Order: sequence, then C-alpha cells, then structure tokens
Amino acid sequence: MFETAIAGSLPKPAWLAETGKLWPKWRAEGAELAQAKLDATLLWIKQQEDAGLSIIGDGEMSRQHFVHGFLERVQGIDFEHKVEMGIRNDRYKAMVPQVVAPLALKGRVHEAEARFLRAHTRRKVKFTLPGPMTIVDTVADRFYGDRRKMAFAFAELLNQEALALQADGVDIVQFDEPAFNVYMDDAATWGVAALERAAQGLVCKTAVHICYGYGIQANVDWKQTLGSEWRQYEKVFPALAKSRIDQVSLECIHSHVPAELMALLAGKEVMVGVIDVASDVVETPEEVADTLGRALQFVARDKLIACTNCGLAPMGRAVAEAKLRALAEGAALAAKRLSPA
Ligand code: ZN
Repeated sequence: MFETAIAGSLPKPAWLAETGKLWPKWRAEGAELAQAKLDATLLWIKQQEDAGLSIIGDGEMSRQHFVHGFLERVQGIDFEHKVEMGIRNDRYKAMVPQVVAPLALKGRVHEAEARFLRAHTRRKVKFTLPGPMTIVDTVADRFYGDRRKMAFAFAELLNQEALALQADGVDIVQFDEPAFNVYMDDAATWGVAALERAAQGLVCKTAVHICYGYGIQANVDWKQTLGSEWRQYEKVFPALAKSRIDQVSLECIHSHVPAELMALLAGKEVMVGVIDVASDVVETPEEVADTLGRALQFVARDKLIACTNCGLAPMGRAVAEAKLRALAEGAALAAKRLSPA
C-alpha cells in the first residue's frame, strides 16, 4: 500500500471561520475560539481517517493563514500596522505584517493543536510549518534589510518550534515552500540551506511542500503564463536531493510539470500530487491511480506518497471530503494494479 497524506490545509467549517477565503475572519474569540479550533481539528481527523488516509494532519484549523499563523507568535513583528505588499514576485497583493525588531518566539506556537492531533489518532501525524523563504516573501521587512539574513533568523525560530513538535509526538514535520517555485535561483543558492537550518537536529521525518499555490484566481492566471512545460522544480530538486530533508512534494495531476523531473529526487520520498486543488471536479480513483502509475516510472514504490497538489483550504467542505476519499481509493487501486493477485 502507498502512504497517503494531504499537503496541509483543509476547509474551515462555517461555524469556525468565513468560508472560501485564504485569510478568513474567525467567528468567535477567546476561549470560545480556542475550543472551536480544536473541535474543527477533531472533525477533520475523523474525516481523514474515514477517507482512509495513512498520514493525518490537523488541517491547519488553528491558524488563519499558513504563514501568518506562525508569525502571530513571533516577537519583533508589528501586526497592528499591516501594509499591502506584492507577494510571490508580485503575483498578488496581500496585507502583511511588518518585521520591525529582532525576531524571537513568544513561546510555543502550535503546542495545543499538535498535542491534540497526537492524542486523537493512532496513525502517523504530520504537522506543517511555513518555510523560511516563503515567510520572508509574506512579511514586510523594516529591520533586516536582507532577505537571506531574515530567512535564517526565521529558520532558527522554526527550528525551535519543529523540535518541540517532534517532542509532542509528531512523526513528520513539513515546511511549506511555495516560494521555491518563484525564486528558483535563490531557492537553490540559499533557500534550501535556510530550510535545512529550520530542520536541524530533527530525527523525525522532515518534508518540504513546494507547489504552484492554492486554487485561487491569481494562481490560475499565473499558471496560464508558464507555458506547456513547467520546469521550475528543475533548479531546486538537485539541491534538495543533496539535503537532509526526507520528503519532497510536487504538483502532478493537471499540471504541466514533466514527470521525469522526479528522477532528480533520487533517494528521497516523493509526495506526488494526485488531487487538483484548483478544480471542484472530484478525481476518480482511476485518474489518481493513473497519475501514481506515471510517477512510478521515476520513483521507487516504497518512496512514493500519494498527496494533494496543495492545501484544500479555500474549497467547499463536501468537495474536499470527496477528494480525500478519491485520494485514498486511488492509492489503493494503484497498489492493486501492481499486485493484481
Ligand atoms: Zn501548496
């Protein structure tokens, strides 16, 4: 059987936050909000288990956004005065907080939800953190004056939290680095080094998620400009193959990423995206199995993890649930095709 996992985020229930948004407003506050976040986490643990996934996440129910959820616990960041900034090489605008002083953690970031996740499933658990380069691209710098320097400052903080997550019982710590597909030269020259700093000393599995973003219109439009062959991964995969990161993800289904780029990840576990997050059309198990079959030409069977292309956060809940089932059923079908008896 193949391992199966989500990239990270899942849709928040309507009673927890606004739906269909990347930066949704919470429906409650204080203790009521804290409880609602854990209730939603429990709901998605159950849904992932029922769908048949082998690796379970918290669906990122406790954070408003995959980057800002971490930043809220970092000292040296001014959240009161957000500024508009073009992010991912100006692909879209976002209101971002500003770095105004040396960075330090205020304390634990994700302790409550990580321990809650560990306590409520017997399956392997994965916990996601934003990667240093992607953080740097999602915050305004008024202090460091150098992206690389600031990335390493964030990497130290991420490392503190990652080591604590490992102690909480997390089996896989994943760093999300969509920026690797935007700043390919920087990713290869210092992005991977900053990532390794963030993962330093971890003995649990480590992973990096690299994608072409959520299924929002700005990303859909951007992909239209990338031509018939998407070779962004080509620069960073060799650097990752040499790194100590165990698992690497890539978008596969409905992307124009040449499958042979997976050969650049020799020796790594590969999280193959078999679920499209930019379409509400639910994949069939056959489509999922076909995508895995193509990946098997380049990835060893015991190193292949069936995954979603990216997070499912802005989707409708029913669609996301159906896609989780398709993911698990398709992975089971691909395994059956390999051993038909
Ligand atoms: Zn992603």
